[in-house]
Amino acid sequence: MEALKERILNDGYVLTEEILKVDSFLNHQIDSKLMYQMGEEFKRRFANKPVTKIVTIEASGIAIAALAALSFNVPVVFAKKTQSRNLDKDTYTYPVYSFTKKQTYDIHISKKYLNEDDDVLIIDDFLANGQAAAGLIELVKQARANLTGVGIVIEKGFQKGGEELRNNGIIVESLAIVDRMTGGEIRFL
Ligand code: 5GP
Repeated sequence: MEALKERILNDGYVLTEEILKVDSFLNHQIDSKLMYQMGEEFKRRFANKPVTKIVTIEASGIAIAALAALSFNVPVVFAKKTQSRNLDKDTYTYPVYSFTKKQTYDIHISKKYLNEDDDVLIIDDFLANGQAAAGLIELVKQARANLTGVGIVIEKGFQKGGEELRNNGIIVESLAIVDRMTGGEIRFL
């Protein structure tokens, strides 16, 4: 998606050779108009595919998932990273290793909000090694729901997540795929 790639080139910066910061429009300050355009692009890419629910993970997936949900006209469910006292105890749960925080935590979705009648589109901001996506896919499996596909804003093609998911037959649509980030320069596939 050209508008997104341009924005990454203009406003993104390479923190380390593996971490791209896009805090000015995606991860801290949010450009809702761009989010809406990205939601529309996901809708185009998953046109004619069944989607009854969008599933994401807190916190950074929520904004793009919520805007995309407008285009799909379906609810968003976000997996929580803590089992808060007031979260329904009856949850689907799976451990996920965080790429950015370098720690493992359990993610939870209440059984109230996902079940075998659902066709799920998973949406997230980044795809790196695929741990977050794999955890969400596991929750979809626990719910016996159908996984329609995975929509990603920025995939880092030099990390293994995208390849592993596609090798497992999962449809992955990424709006921008970063090929490499060496020397502070961002290159797209
Ligand atoms: P994975 O589970 O695929 O290894 O990593 C995906 C998750 O880690 C995303 O939900 C995202 O929040 C975070 N993440 C991974 N790589 C980056 C990155 O380069 N920049 C930012 N801002 N977040 C990232």
